[in-house]
Amino acid sequence: MDKIVSLSKRRGFVFQSSEIYGGLNGCWDYGPLGVELLRNIKDQWWQAMTYREDIEGIDASILMHPRVWEASGHVANFTDPMVDCKQCKHRFRPELVPRVIQCTNCNKYRVKIIPEVNDALLNAISMYGVDDVIKAFAADEMYCPNPNCEKQTDFKIIETICPDCGTKNSFSPPRKFNLMFKTFVGPVEDEGSVVYLRPETAQGIYVNFLNVQAASRQKLPFGIAQIGKAFRNEINTKNFLFRTREFEQMEMQFFVKPGSDVEWFNYWKEERMKWFVNLGLPREKIQFHQHEPDKLAHYAKDAFDVEYQFPFGWGEIEGIHNRTDYDLSKHEEFSGKSMKYFDEETKERFTPYIIETSAGASRSFMAFLVDAYREEDAPTADGKAEMRVVLKLHPRLAPIKVAVFPLVNRDGMPEIARKIEALVRPHFRVFYDDSGAVGRRYRRQDEAGTPYCVTVDSQTLQDNTVTVRDRDTMQQERIVIDEIVRYTAGKLAQ
Ligand code: ATP
Repeated sequence: MDKIVSLSKRRGFVFQSSEIYGGLNGCWDYGPLGVELLRNIKDQWWQAMTYREDIEGIDASILMHPRVWEASGHVANFTDPMVDCKQCKHRFRPELVPRVIQCTNCNKYRVKIIPEVNDALLNAISMYGVDDVIKAFAADEMYCPNPNCEKQTDFKIIETICPDCGTKNSFSPPRKFNLMFKTFVGPVEDEGSVVYLRPETAQGIYVNFLNVQAASRQKLPFGIAQIGKAFRNEINTKNFLFRTREFEQMEMQFFVKPGSDVEWFNYWKEERMKWFVNLGLPREKIQFHQHEPDKLAHYAKDAFDVEYQFPFGWGEIEGIHNRTDYDLSKHEEFSGKSMKYFDEETKERFTPYIIETSAGASRSFMAFLVDAYREEDAPTADGKAEMRVVLKLHPRLAPIKVAVFPLVNRDGMPEIARKIEALVRPHFRVFYDDSGAVGRRYRRQDEAGTPYCVTVDSQTLQDNTVTVRDRDTMQQERIVIDEIVRYTAGKLAQ
């Protein structure tokens, strides 16, 4: 992860927000390459969703009527139980608090630790002579470290330890903490002017369901897609872009007739998996995780997460939920306005079920970036090998599609290269580079994930051909200048 964070800053993918002031926790800024990658992810999603006849787009406002969040259950339920360390005053989710536990069978100790191991923590556990520390991103199966006692899973908690200051048994009882950011509309900051920064984009779709349906004359089943910012006052904002306080969601809510919901749920589950795989995530590094019936959200009939295997473990990048008629019924109840759909053919009036696909644009960004990062041996001009960092992003996601180089800065090569740049620029994001040895220029583009580098050399002066070097294979082929745009378009369409 450290390498990805450092490359992100060095090459302008992601910067810490307000860095010159020491940063703002849980917020990140996308730099010149990052913003292109993020836009490309969103464009691919938007195309997959709305370039079909049964889905319409929408862009709802971030601030909504506060009753929306009462109806959705966010005011009452969008809470995390939190514990406070009385010593250092830091706040944690209870399941992230390290615990010394003891096997009730053989009395061996072990420590269940989720965050990083630091000196304060090691110091606190040293008296137990514990050498067996479990590091896990999420709650983990427990088994006894003693080989003669294997499979023993009965433990008692000896003590809890603050992961930041190492103080033992210093936690307050769990308290509920609402994750929504609250603010005020107008000049008076009182309870009557409270509004929330939306914690999900979905509600903007639900409240507009009938508006969109009437305006577009869609019939069930149909969907509404939206990409937009969401805000959650997350407590634990670790792991770079994985859990941030401001992030972007790509959500599509598909409205169906009750009874056809299971079929559509399965359809969208498969579609969403295909989307990630088609954009380059290896199938073996993504999995479905079904929510256990007792862990399902109160509104959901069934739910699967699409998870990616991040360097720190499996993490959700998208949720696919069968939300039943919960949301529309709640808005009907709270607003007093009918949210029912009238079926012209059967003359029935009913509340549709909703199948939700809710992907994080920023979490997907991180998955695509992490997955693309490679360190490889590459041959140098004098036949030796050197390490290259290359981002093997799917060409459609790559921030820059084509780089153009004159081999040397003379003999008319820069002029031809500039003409090629002008030829390509209306079609694709292109980058012109004439500084340093051509091998260095290739390396710089490898790090940026640029799939095709076009070089003007002495042969170009003879026959109007250039070399096109493929980022992944490092093979070069010669094509005529007039073919460059068509060649690139063909590759991107694959
Ligand atoms: P988690 O359990 O990881 O908090 P969630 O189940 O609350 O996620 P949803 O409410 O289903 O997430 O949101 C849908 C998607 O929005 C997630 O799959 C994720 O990609 C993205 N997302 C949610 N919270 C965050 C966050 N704090 N930072 C970045 N992306 C997020």
